[in-house]
Amino acid sequence: MMVKTRIRRDDEVIVIAGRDKGARGKVVRVLPQDGTVLVSKVNMIKRHTRQTQNTSGGIIEKEAPLAISNVQFFCPKCKTGVRLGSKVLEDGRKVRTCRKCGEVLDR
Ligand SMILES: [Zn+2]
Repeated sequence: MMVKTRIRRDDEVIVIAGRDKGARGKVVRVLPQDGTVLVSKVNMIKRHTRQTQNTSGGIIEKEAPLAISNVQFFCPKCKTGVRLGSKVLEDGRKVRTCRKCGEVLDR
């Protein structure tokens, strides 16, 4: 199922539910088909990797996907997670806005 989201790669988001509630990080990847996002250094899991000819194996830490519904865009002005709106600028560009303070979030 595709999940509609206005969150994009490189956005700063805050986790609003689950084990990592309150954690903030940059979006590494958005996976609308899965309804999940990968957020840098958030929801880390340890993976054991087997030794191969090319790698030495061992334990690596990597990000596990978070449900899109469990994260919100972090508005730098409100200093909290917010919902995103959108508006069209005078020059015709469509930008995302903070629904709370109205700040334009795209440059
Ligand atoms: Zn705001």
